[in-house]
Amino acid sequence: MKEKMYISTRGQQEPLNFYEAILQGIGCDGGLLVPDFKIEQKDLKALENLNYEDMATEIISVFTPEGTKEDIRKLCHQAYGEGLFPKDVVPVKKAGKVYIAELFQGPTAAFKDMALSLLPRFMTYSLKQKGEEREVMILAATSGDTGKAALEGFKDVEGTCIKVFYPIDGVSPVQKQQMVTQTGHNVDVIGIKGNFDDAQTAVKKAFQSEKLKGLCDQHHVFLSSANSINIGRLIPQIVYYFYSYMTLVKQKEITLGEKVNFTIPSGNFGNCLAGYIAKQMGLPIHQFIVASNKNNILTDFFHTGTYDANREFYKTNAPAMDILVSSNLERLVYFLCQDAKKVQGYMERLNETGVYKVDDDLLNMIQENFKAGWLSEEEVLKTIGACYQENGYLLDTHTAIGYGVYKTYQKETNDQTKNILLSTASPYKFPGSVYQSVSGKVLDEYEATEALNQMTKVEIPTPLQGMKDREILHKKVIEKEAIVDFIGEQIKEINL
Ligand SMILES: *Cc1c(COP(=O)(O)O)cnc(C)c1O
Repeated sequence: MKEKMYISTRGQQEPLNFYEAILQGIGCDGGLLVPDFKIEQKDLKALENLNYEDMATEIISVFTPEGTKEDIRKLCHQAYGEGLFPKDVVPVKKAGKVYIAELFQGPTAAFKDMALSLLPRFMTYSLKQKGEEREVMILAATSGDTGKAALEGFKDVEGTCIKVFYPIDGVSPVQKQQMVTQTGHNVDVIGIKGNFDDAQTAVKKAFQSEKLKGLCDQHHVFLSSANSINIGRLIPQIVYYFYSYMTLVKQKEITLGEKVNFTIPSGNFGNCLAGYIAKQMGLPIHQFIVASNKNNILTDFFHTGTYDANREFYKTNAPAMDILVSSNLERLVYFLCQDAKKVQGYMERLNETGVYKVDDDLLNMIQENFKAGWLSEEEVLKTIGACYQENGYLLDTHTAIGYGVYKTYQKETNDQTKNILLSTASPYKFPGSVYQSVSGKVLDEYEATEALNQMTKVEIPTPLQGMKDREILHKKVIEKEAIVDFIGEQIKEINL
């Protein structure tokens, strides 16, 4: 059988196998890695009664080399079956008629845990399979939750070290506290003066830097990524689409084969793209509803086909979605047109002018699958308050955006298809805004946590308890222009 290979959306990368794709993280041409094989359709009946780790094994091994399924089962067991997550991993709750799949029950109370509890295991597994002796340096840019989840996933993992860059004014106090108190001998957390896009752009630049390449060779290091540009982040995210669907089948809320909608609070578009792949694998999905905040570049794109990054960047109360360069959209465009030259052309235009427009055929295909909308910050707060009053369910700011956008979609279209909203954060990640929404009062984040707990009786996730008193271990702050040089200095310290 032919080996499953991965290629770049921009066409210049020699095909890589799974291990190489995981370790390299991004195409050598700046494009994103995508499967170059026909993705297998899954038999829904065979998945129906599996627990999370077994379902993950079935889905993920579609993307890994032949004969690795039992190894993948072990990795999935370590990630999802050994107590990092609750027993049902992704509980599905209900708020009125909306089903809510809670993706935030992992070790750092972030949706990013869904993938980042597995990616480091993919990496060490790939290092072993390749007989790789160099050290991996993981670079991650974060708008909040990726950083903590990646730090926790990679801490003390042999053969790896991790550098996380976060915008000092672009993450919530709770998120910042989670990161700067991170323990582990191989972890580094660096504040940058700039926004998330600055951090992400600088990290992408680091991968392309000839100077860093030279240093890496000299010091037996190679760079890799923990951002959702890494295909190893994307693949584990396909699983919870199947899992939340099957949970509804088991609860007799839907019948096997019935179509559902998914609503997804989106930023870098990795979450939504994983759903699109699930659909290609045979999961009966009618519509994806893509929800954005005031940084509504995706809403405009899905409505007009024009991706226009020449706009103001807003810091909002849903900071994980404050993004203007939505990386994974490039993969969607590639999947739909299967034309790397075309994608490269779009991306060149985006780089040079900040804008690209897809052609009409592409736009039609996109609009068949995706609906989009956005909420202002005031609407976010109102939505949290209204949902709590009506249903007793406490949304965080990001999930509230999904909830509000879905409600508007439902009203406008009268679409009766059942809807699963993917909840990407615990309300205790953004307690100030959430408390304000349900009480009308403004408190600082830590006071709000206590007050929210007393008022609603919703439990505070274990990883977020006792945060205030943890020792601060990381205080470095650098200019955004200094990131590449900083990484160079760090490489020099390895294998002197
Ligand atoms: C990362 C994140 C998102 C955005 O997910 P993408 O996969 O980047 O679209 C939304 N909400 C929260 C809370 C997140 O952490």
